[in-house]
Amino acid sequence: MKIRILWMYHDLMDLYGDKGNIQVLKTRCAKRGIECEVDTCTIGEDRDPDDYDLFFMGGGADREQNLIYEDLLKRRDAIQNAMDHNTAFLLICGGYQLFGQYYKDQDGQKIDGLGFFDYYTIAADRDHRCIGNIAVEAEMDGMKFKAVGFENHGGQTQNVASPFAKVLSGHGNTYKSGHEGFMNSQVLATYMHGPLLPKNPVIADILIRRALKKRNGDVVLQELDDTLENKARDVMLERLKIHG
Ligand code: GLN
Repeated sequence: MKIRILWMYHDLMDLYGDKGNIQVLKTRCAKRGIECEVDTCTIGEDRDPDDYDLFFMGGGADREQNLIYEDLLKRRDAIQNAMDHNTAFLLICGGYQLFGQYYKDQDGQKIDGLGFFDYYTIAADRDHRCIGNIAVEAEMDGMKFKAVGFENHGGQTQNVASPFAKVLSGHGNTYKSGHEGFMNSQVLATYMHGPLLPKNPVIADILIRRALKKRNGDVVLQELDDTLENKARDVMLERLKIHG
């Protein structure tokens, strides 16, 4: 089996180790004998998202979001087509924001998002960024788990119809919203940098299953020994005084 990953704006949208998510997906596929091909695509390059099983976009500061958003908007129909054909999506922070209605930065400058979802993002003032370690409780594709990450965003994302998780420690979609990210059966959009996947192997495997589904249907993955990965997550949960 094989999965093909499209890594968007790898050179511009990559904050707090987001590229590490790609490495985790490659490693976890390799351990199972699943071929994992990764193509990058930046401004002006021509890739068809429907050729891929997983679409990945990392986070970016306001400057980088302004640099890439017009190029991203030109790809709306092609991304919609991939969505219609079961491509899976992992979107981190700035990438998450740009799949909604718009992003308005702290200077009030508003850039359009792709408008696939009803949420919208308005950045708080410079002194009110959501920064720090974050822990959440999620249920994804029938799996219930706690996850940890790192967030640093001014954006306050509102009107999220189906959040990814409940915040146990940290901020999430807005300063004190209690919820984090957006999720549906194909898209995981989250504020959790870190990168997200090394300490949350259950999410990595869910994404691999979602990616495989496009051309293979439902697949059961061989279990891996995640002792170290889960220990790394548990150390952070402990530090955040989250038990059980
Ligand atoms: N620039 C956006 C914000 O500040 C996204 C930041 C990010 O991707 N970490 O909210």
